[in-house]
Amino acid sequence: MSYPDDILRKVIKPARYTGNEWNSVVKDWDKTDIKVALSYPDSYEVGMSNMALPILYELLNSQPDVLAERVFAPWIDMQKIMLASGIPLSTLESRHPLKDFDIIGFSLGYELTYTNILNMLHLAGIPLLASERDDSHPVIIAGGSGALNPEPMADFIDLFVVGDGEEVLLELIDSFRDWKRQGAAKEELLRQAAAIPGIYVPSLYQVEYQADGMFKSITPTVAEASPTIQRRIVDKLPPPATKPVVPYIGVIHDRGGIEIQRGCSRGCRFCQAGNIYRPVRERPREEIIQAVGELIANCGYNEISMVSLSTSDYTDIDKLIADLLHRYQRHNLSLSLPSLCIDSFSVKLLDSLPSGRKTGLTFAPEAGSDRLRQAINKNIPEEEILETIATAFDRGWTSLKLYFMLGLPTETTDDIEGIIQLVDKIDSLGRKAKGRRPQLRISLSTFVPKPHTSFQWTAQQSEQQLTAGYELLKQGLRRRGVRLWWHDPKVSLLEAVLSRGDRRLGKVIHRAWQLGSIFDGWSEQFNYENWLKAFDEAGIEPGFYAHRERPLDEPLPWAHIDTGITPAFLKQEYQRAMEDRETPDCRYQDCSVCGLQRWHPDCQQRYQGLSCKTTIHNNSSSGDVTR
Ligand code: SF4
Repeated sequence: MSYPDDILRKVIKPARYTGNEWNSVVKDWDKTDIKVALSYPDSYEVGMSNMALPILYELLNSQPDVLAERVFAPWIDMQKIMLASGIPLSTLESRHPLKDFDIIGFSLGYELTYTNILNMLHLAGIPLLASERDDSHPVIIAGGSGALNPEPMADFIDLFVVGDGEEVLLELIDSFRDWKRQGAAKEELLRQAAAIPGIYVPSLYQVEYQADGMFKSITPTVAEASPTIQRRIVDKLPPPATKPVVPYIGVIHDRGGIEIQRGCSRGCRFCQAGNIYRPVRERPREEIIQAVGELIANCGYNEISMVSLSTSDYTDIDKLIADLLHRYQRHNLSLSLPSLCIDSFSVKLLDSLPSGRKTGLTFAPEAGSDRLRQAINKNIPEEEILETIATAFDRGWTSLKLYFMLGLPTETTDDIEGIIQLVDKIDSLGRKAKGRRPQLRISLSTFVPKPHTSFQWTAQQSEQQLTAGYELLKQGLRRRGVRLWWHDPKVSLLEAVLSRGDRRLGKVIHRAWQLGSIFDGWSEQFNYENWLKAFDEAGIEPGFYAHRERPLDEPLPWAHIDTGITPAFLKQEYQRAMEDRETPDCRYQDCSVCGLQRWHPDCQQRYQGLSCKTTIHNNSSSGDVTR
């Protein structure tokens, strides 16, 4: 049953709540045993642009006894009406209230959506705290990058799925099926689930703090729970989703998407995605070509995005693009290539696209000096940046968007001034090529130290320090007529606290939600005062989590989550950063032995190749050359 028209007439974008979109799957509720609500804790437009949702939707709905339906966070106007009219949160497909489902799965992609998860549970009439839910309530699960430090949300979630979800989710469903047949208590299901590699059940672990309040340890309390949770990694990418739901309204990424590869080998030290999705796994070329055809046929899209953390690194990407454009010529196919590296090859790649969109080009130098780029392992010398941009101007681009980060570890005033000088050089290149000023937009974000990166121990700069850096840049860039956009440092502070927090932050999140914080990721909704009050009432100092340099031997609240990358490698990378030393991209040069050689067959091969070389080298230096 859909929402009544008199409600839909009162809200903006009613199509967010109507469902019935092309390719949505509505299975027979009464004849399907296991019911899963895939819940995205942000607006419909954001959630429908997420790449994981269609994969899990197709995967679960392909199981005969499972139905998967979608639900998104209702916008403020809608939720007010729902609360006033006593309408519970329900899914888009069958319109069943969330509390009637067996499993509710949340996506943890961004820390500032955490209060939305609490709000969605509240709108569904489900107790927020896992400890207050009983056997009659759905099992609340969560996955995504936030599950790599699950502790801040541990009070609210029954179990976390850590890593690639495609295989482990089906194992969890198997376990759920058996448990349902047995008619056992929920506690039993959680214990069974805890034995599945990649599943973390926080209620089966005890957290200890030291007398001075520092985090001490997390240890299992039952035999089924493992002391460390290994991230699940699929050896080979499972088939792509080729029949995603097509929204009726514009969404953030209004196009088809195909994940051409997972993981990135570049090793940028600030980048969590680059660490937690290793190793690189490419989708075979023929599979991509076929999937694009299916997306066109099933969805009517003529624009397809080649999704990857570093698209230009895909083997022979130029040939793949040429093949796709040739194969689907009559469909007037347009391809979008997000996440390109700063090199002339990327510019040529974009130039080869038929749309010839020369309106804007985006690059992310991240830092203003070669020295700082070496420290963060963004290994692109200024010379190469300028050469790439000169190529772009020569090929007709007149507008550039450049991403930089403020507050990176080891940053000095010279590095900030380096941004001004770099922009100045780019401006001159544009004027030389076009005879007039290029349009330059500078997007400044704030460095947020993230768990499982080599900067996980570093401090985030204070708001005062960041503002000083911003003012310096603003003054320097004003003369050059560039447009400058800055990410609110208060938002970055909260991101830093929630991403590296421990279980004590649950009460802060809870209190902030009680005070009215939802949709914190939306600048017009973000209420910093709520959060400060919540921290204050919980007796927690946010700077303890965000602004403190942590000793390398300090116990970390996410250390029980094993991504495959060893702490020793992260520490080594931290040291190299402090010495401004680069680590080469393991895709093109030697394996850096990050730890994944223990787990993944491709990495094992690369590592063995390296061991061979080392043996030869060692033997050579002792004068004993053998092969
Ligand atoms: S084990 Fe080696 S090849 Fe594999 S991701 Fe790590 S550094 Fe790269």
